[in-house]
Amino acid sequence: MNEPNLNQPPPTEPTKEKKNTPPNLLHFLIIALLITIVLNFITSTMASKRTYQIEYSQFIQLIESGSVDVVQLEEEQLLLTLNKTADESQLRQILFANTEEAPQMDLWDQIFYTIRVDDPSLVERLDENDVRFYQNNAQTNPILTFMASWIFPVLILYVMYYFLFKNMTKRMGGGTMGGIGKSKAKVFDAQKITGITFADVAGQDEAKESLYEMIDFLHNPEKYEQIGAKQPRGALLVGPPGTGKTLLARAVAGEAKVPFYSITGSEFIEMYVGVGASRVRDLFAEATKNAPCIIFIDEIDAIGKSRDNQMSSNDEREQTLNQLLSEMDGFDTSKGIIVLAATNRPEVLDKALLRPGRFDRRIIVDKPDLPGREAILKVHAAKVKLDKNANLKDVALATSGATGADLANMVNEAALRAVRFSRDVVTQEDLLESVEVVIAGKEKKDRILNPKEKQMVAFHEVGHALATALQRDGMPVTKITIVPRTMGSLGYTMNTPEEERYLLTQSELKAQIITLLSGRAAEQIIFNEVSTGASNDIERATGLARSMVTQYGMSDRFGAMGLESTRSQYLDGRNVLTCSEQTGAAIDEEVRAILMDCEATAFNLLSDNRQALNDISAYLLEKENITGEKFMDLLALTQEAL
Ligand code: ADP
Ligand code: MG
Ligand code: ZN
Repeated sequence: MNEPNLNQPPPTEPTKEKKNTPPNLLHFLIIALLITIVLNFITSTMASKRTYQIEYSQFIQLIESGSVDVVQLEEEQLLLTLNKTADESQLRQILFANTEEAPQMDLWDQIFYTIRVDDPSLVERLDENDVRFYQNNAQTNPILTFMASWIFPVLILYVMYYFLFKNMTKRMGGGTMGGIGKSKAKVFDAQKITGITFADVAGQDEAKESLYEMIDFLHNPEKYEQIGAKQPRGALLVGPPGTGKTLLARAVAGEAKVPFYSITGSEFIEMYVGVGASRVRDLFAEATKNAPCIIFIDEIDAIGKSRDNQMSSNDEREQTLNQLLSEMDGFDTSKGIIVLAATNRPEVLDKALLRPGRFDRRIIVDKPDLPGREAILKVHAAKVKLDKNANLKDVALATSGATGADLANMVNEAALRAVRFSRDVVTQEDLLESVEVVIAGKEKKDRILNPKEKQMVAFHEVGHALATALQRDGMPVTKITIVPRTMGSLGYTMNTPEEERYLLTQSELKAQIITLLSGRAAEQIIFNEVSTGASNDIERATGLARSMVTQYGMSDRFGAMGLESTRSQYLDGRNVLTCSEQTGAAIDEEVRAILMDCEATAFNLLSDNRQALNDISAYLLEKENITGEKFMDLLALTQEAL
């Protein structure tokens, strides 16, 4: 039942544009006229500043005193400029004798004019006094003057306006000048749709399952109607940036093979005030015409922000949102329209948008887990030539917390590295190095540390590594390096868990804090003072300790009391205190106690293993990089020796 024109962009309707043109042209004319009036006013005041009217008798006096350079004879008036050699005080006497206050002016830069009287001896007089003169016959045709000062500017403005708008509307994908309010949604041709299908989206199996069902609604509505089930109107894709929400929506369109209208929330409000609402209306009208189809609103939080936000009310956005709400209520579900939207800030969305009957479904698109990461790596690795010994599972293990976008980026970095080394396949080494590049930046070999600094970095990193290796709850070390990186680190220790963890116990959290603080502890033990190199460690350790107290109920003092809540869960995950200020101060005390305790533990741990610290650091200083295995070997050697 595919109609033949289904996959073509709908023709723009001339009738609609005609209807829109007159008010626009009127607006334009009024504005153009105003601009022209202002322009004319400015030029006339500028011109009058440089010309100064004098009396005919003064004109004669000037001529006779021999101070006139040139006279221009015109039909109505005489224009003159003064001789450079004329005496200024005499001139002023002639010009301003009858004026109360002589105007400030540069006499020689000035054009004087006087109304021409019927004086037959004028030419003779000029001749006698050696004044240069000429007749200016350029007839000032009143029609021409009018054209030049009124019609011309309007025309030029019109041309400018026309081209500007043409470009703008072209960019918006709309029609010509009249189409400002038209929706900018692009119609994707289902067949041509860059070939994205669910196969290109890896690891989001639950999300895909939900979306599959929605596609099925579009294709087999009878199956659902027969039992009395209603088609859901919309689904909201929720998750952190880079997890593949936009990708999923495009894949849905590719799978469903129906027209796909994609628009971002901000595009509704951009540029013109008051068009957001009409864009929403147009979008749904267009979609209804082409049903079955899918509407996708990316970054919907731009329009869907809660309306009860007192601080910054934004009428434009509210109107747009109201229009969206009513359109979502209004469309006929049996027609087969599905609205998809994506956001990473679901908590700011208006409640009305989330109620059943609008975005009934919320599809979580979270950061991928271990198998998910492996699958995503596979999808992207399929696009590059991969060495057959490459082990994507190891890469997945090393990239806990990475999003799909991060992983795609890593594979690409690896391929670039392979090219840089003139290899024709991407090796495991390329992949692991690119993981580091994405996490810590590129190696910065030209940053020269002085020997003392380098030593400090080495002891610091080995401190971290030893702490993980020596604690029961620590994670295995995979690499230690003291090569500086572009993103600011002077060296680092990489730990890779043996498996993905979803829960951490109190002792594991403490082990992490101890590990973080042991870089600093190593500096303290060896050099008897600490450096600035531990700032990031301290920040992370403090964050962990704080969460233990405020969120995980892991302090004796507060027990299971919740003291903080998380905002923007999918973005920066900022925490907000939900307790009194006094309690806040007490929390700080608790956090400090945990940190002090862990620091002492780290200090003792490393002091007890000072030999290993010395030996491994010396080796690291020499080699700059050590693998996890080498590290464990060295550790075992020193332990045997004791
Ligand atoms: P979001 O819209 O959630 O911010 P995108 O959909 O724009 O993220 O994803 C950005 C890029 O990351 C995609 O183009 C794709 O290359 C990659 N990507 C993200 N998630 C996945 C995934 N699950 N499978 C494959 N590639 C992914
Ligand atoms: Mg997106
Ligand atoms: Zn450190």
